[in-house]
Amino acid sequence: MLAGAVLFVSGACGGGGGSSEVTVRLVTPAGPTATPTLLPGETVTALEPPELVLSTFEVYQAGTVLVSVTGDIRGGQVTFLGRKFPLTPGSQSQYSFVPVDTEDPPGEYVMKVDVTLPTGTKGTLQETITVLATEWTTEYLEFTPEQVTEYLDPAVIAEEEATLKSLYTRVTPEKLWDGFWQLPVAGVLTSRYGEQRSINGSEPSGHHGGTDFGALEGTPVTATNSGKVVLARQMKVHGNMVVVDHGGGLYSSYGHLSAIEVAEGDAVEAGQQIGLVGNTGLSTGAHLHWEMASNGILLDAVRFTDGTNGF
Ligand SMILES: [Zn+2]
Repeated sequence: MLAGAVLFVSGACGGGGGSSEVTVRLVTPAGPTATPTLLPGETVTALEPPELVLSTFEVYQAGTVLVSVTGDIRGGQVTFLGRKFPLTPGSQSQYSFVPVDTEDPPGEYVMKVDVTLPTGTKGTLQETITVLATEWTTEYLEFTPEQVTEYLDPAVIAEEEATLKSLYTRVTPEKLWDGFWQLPVAGVLTSRYGEQRSINGSEPSGHHGGTDFGALEGTPVTATNSGKVVLARQMKVHGNMVVVDHGGGLYSSYGHLSAIEVAEGDAVEAGQQIGLVGNTGLSTGAHLHWEMASNGILLDAVRFTDGTNGF
């Protein structure tokens, strides 16, 4: 069916990356449309056919493709790498930040987008996406026996991960973000997303779930984009933490803060100060731990700002 696809490459640039915006027309025709019966003098407004707009055809592990469907649709769902994501209504399209998990194998995969037209007719748009390998580096950390006992208890970590996962898997069916994504702190990148950790000389394992920026205690921390605060409290491992819901299943979070300056339920603007850099929770010095997650899958936050996601 791919032979029927019509591609428009507009070459539009994203935030600093050499990205291109790609539009794909409906691959599977929506089927014959019933001819409406018109009364004398009555006219019909033509429906705009759906088109698939992807931020990129090539996405890295822990990256995300911003999938948009323009035109007149009632709703839709994206299927990619065996997972399903609902489309969320935006201003001019319905969209989803479709995530690639840290350990999804590199290769070519078909993305399908099932849409329902206003008439109730269903159709499918599809395109092939290449998942590129991200090279994971290793970080060697030293924790004191007290830190190991207090914070590295698998039960403590599992409980906190479950709390965050239950938040990150909620999909608010409303777009709460706008425009570009900003770095949340003026600091030095000290640990990339996905780094494997060797703790006190152990075999490297796991993946760092966020990006760390070293900064002086008290440095302002700002929201990467607009949204609603859904968590603002002390956590065991993440320390003082703020989680912002950007709608459509996308979340950002900010950990190890010395002070929290927003409350759960607050609406925040992009760039608004939400707290201060600190050293709370499991931390070896003042830094910000910045996470991004879409539909429950942790993503490399820096890829929201360096153009590698194509936006
Ligand atoms: Zn971290």
